[in-house]
Amino acid sequence: MSTTLPVADRSLSERSPRGLDALLFGTEPKLRMRVQRSMLSAVIYIAWMVIEAYCAVQGLFPWSSACLIFAYNISGLVVFYALLRSGWSMRLRDPSLTLEQVIYSFGATINVYVLLPVTRAAALQLLCVILVFGMFTLRPREVIQACVAAVGLLLLTLLLAAFAPPPAFDLKREAINVALACIILPALAAIIRYFALLRETLLEQRAELKQAVERVQELATRDTLTGLVNRAHMMELLDQEQRRHTRTGGSFCVALLDLDHFKRINDTHGHQVGDEVLGGFATRAIDALRQTDVVARWGGEEFLVLLPETTPECARQGLERLRSAIESARLSVSVDDLQVTVSAGVAAWSQGEALNHVLERADRALYAAKNGGRNRVTLAP
Ligand code: GH3
Ligand code: MG
Ligand code: MG
Repeated sequence: MSTTLPVADRSLSERSPRGLDALLFGTEPKLRMRVQRSMLSAVIYIAWMVIEAYCAVQGLFPWSSACLIFAYNISGLVVFYALLRSGWSMRLRDPSLTLEQVIYSFGATINVYVLLPVTRAAALQLLCVILVFGMFTLRPREVIQACVAAVGLLLLTLLLAAFAPPPAFDLKREAINVALACIILPALAAIIRYFALLRETLLEQRAELKQAVERVQELATRDTLTGLVNRAHMMELLDQEQRRHTRTGGSFCVALLDLDHFKRINDTHGHQVGDEVLGGFATRAIDALRQTDVVARWGGEEFLVLLPETTPECARQGLERLRSAIESARLSVSVDDLQVTVSAGVAAWSQGEALNHVLERADRALYAAKNGGRNRVTLAP
């Protein structure tokens, strides 16, 4: 009865809640989903209680029994609603309180089994149905716990009934019914546990797959030595930027940077120091530029910077800041006094210009910076 039903999560969380809806179920999507799932089982409780009330009116059993059942059901509904709706259950491992709701529902069913002779046969079947509901959310261990709870409650009920028989309770016949239920419930639990194990494996595999995809994406878009965006991904970013500005009418700048006399560093101090310098340069470059600027390793000791929404003069200033930071930085841990400088050529993209063309202009500006004596920033005409 009060169990977690497999309601489509997305459809419930996508609606924007307002008014009474927001008041009853809350606004936080996951909390709403939990409350709504629990309230769905309330519908079953209420329907069941209506039938019981009808039976009581027809004189099939006393109102006192019906009232006991109503009190148990309604108090359960109110308590679970309060725990879920208030967000209190969020501190627990399973904020949906699935196992607790399943066991409470077993109690409601046992009540019906004991107090209402007319629906006694249906009550035992209902125990199986409740266990099946648990298939969608219970963990493998919890399935066993729920089954033990159901069997335990049934055996306890039979034991108590032997001392104080409920109305119209044929002990011998019910002992056989309970014995059958005690065979069926564990068999059903074994199947449900199998599904729960399968679900856990699928969830684990999904998490592993997600990590693998993230790693592949990382490898496909990043340079492994410096951690910067790689050339292929930078081409995609440039293409996007160009298309965006073609539509909106804005502009952007690109800068091609090349470390000065880098071959000399490699030759004098070794390739490893050269690698260290490249990594150090990447970190300093990101620190010196704006957060919206993107630095890519263009190849070897060359880097390309994309400066969105930037005028040529602002781009020049930013790269001047970067040049000066590199000049005074210690880019190698192993060679203390190693001084590294960088030259840069900056070009602003203008409407209608091909990407290759603006990159060529930046390259020519870089060439001019190198020819002009290195360690400088040159703006393309
Ligand atoms: P210039 O100032 O004219 O740019 O001189 P340069 O020595 O920097 O230019 P050149 O093109 O002659 O040398 C670039 C060097 O960069 C040569 C190459 O071995 C080195 N290099 C390229 N990729 C890497 C890398 O990943 N690690 C290291 N350590 N060196 C690299
Ligand atoms: Mg160089
Ligand atoms: Mg070079």
